[in-house]
Amino acid sequence: MKNTYPTIAVKNLSVSFNHKQVIHDISFTIPKNKIVGVVGESGSGKSVTSLAMMGLLPDKIARITGSIEYNGQEISELDSKKWQHLRGNEISMVFQEPMSALNPSMKCGKQVLEIITNHQKCSKKEATEKVLELFDKVKLPNIERIFNAYPHELSGGQKQRIVIAMAIANQPKLLIADEPTTALDVTVQKEIILLIKELQKDYGMSVLFISHDLGLVQEIANETIVMYQGKIMEHQITEDLFKNPQSNYTKALIYARPSTKERLHRLPTIQDFMEGKLKSEIITEETRIRKHQELYSQAPLLEVENVSKTFFTKTGLFTKTGFKAVNQVSFKIYEGETLGLVGESGCGKSTLGNIILNLTKIDNGSVKFKGTSITQLSKNQLKALRKEIQIIF
Ligand code: ADP
Ligand code: MG
Repeated sequence: MKNTYPTIAVKNLSVSFNHKQVIHDISFTIPKNKIVGVVGESGSGKSVTSLAMMGLLPDKIARITGSIEYNGQEISELDSKKWQHLRGNEISMVFQEPMSALNPSMKCGKQVLEIITNHQKCSKKEATEKVLELFDKVKLPNIERIFNAYPHELSGGQKQRIVIAMAIANQPKLLIADEPTTALDVTVQKEIILLIKELQKDYGMSVLFISHDLGLVQEIANETIVMYQGKIMEHQITEDLFKNPQSNYTKALIYARPSTKERLHRLPTIQDFMEGKLKSEIITEETRIRKHQELYSQAPLLEVENVSKTFFTKTGLFTKTGFKAVNQVSFKIYEGETLGLVGESGCGKSTLGNIILNLTKIDNGSVKFKGTSITQLSKNQLKALRKEIQIIF
């Protein structure tokens, strides 16, 4: 007989910590072979819900009522031995911070190898081959080198790929991803999203994809659940939810997304929508042109001209290797202007910031503030400048 159970069926789930209720009677199902997204602001109960599904809530302080069925079987009252079998084998999880799942003192290959040998009967050689296959599957480069590397030797995105490899090592039926890309920069984030989508298809898994980012959930999920203050506000097929949101809260979330088409005096908040304060004033094209003319008719406040900076690292006893962190960069900032600087991790943004603050010395070029060069200042002049240029890290 064909098994018609959904992968997960949560019924009337409530969770309290020390008598404070944080999850209020929620019910939802995760169908087989589908990605269900959960979106909600921080503190709305997304992580508590996913931890309940992994049997990972601290049982001394968490009180759980209702039921959670995995593949038709009640799992909310399993003993720890049964959970150990289920976890990592049938249900596995990827967290926001890859280092929370990795052991810093163990080579990456070995960490994945252990997950395989803990759950599957195979020789070390077979397991090693499986690990390399998995590394290939999650699109890691130089898989042999990474097998023998420690986590700190990898980039954030690569570490998260290792964690994903661990999570799928035993081909689980359900993968829970709790904000898996929040700690990564946007270009890497995109790749990880595509990877999860691809793995879901290849393995026919169900995925619970949790995020505070509406755009990400829209991109990846077949169905979307909106949570707010421990309750489910709405659960629909993703496309329908964005086209035709039902609850006021979802409408507000969608409304509060900044538009790239029009500029507002102030970004709208969820509260604005709830209180019926619709749309702050739009800044028109004419206003912008006039403002730009005013801005750019002044003398620039900051002038960065052909600035370069190379860092050297010792690569041998007598050899050093240079890395060009900033290469011939020029721009100006005018009083009253906001200039955006974007780029992927490692492209030189922070180095440039440190150069402007005179915390890093430049090799070539010039940096002028109010017309005066700031790269060769006396101690007192530097002190005065520090009051004029501030940084937020
Ligand atoms: P989200 O993941 O949506 O940001 P969480 O699920 O982490 O939100 O938290 C939901 C609520 O549960 C919050 O009010 C949080 O403070 C509370 N909470 C989470 N974990 C615990 C805990 N171990 N003890 C007490 N309260 C907790
Ligand atoms: Mg969370």
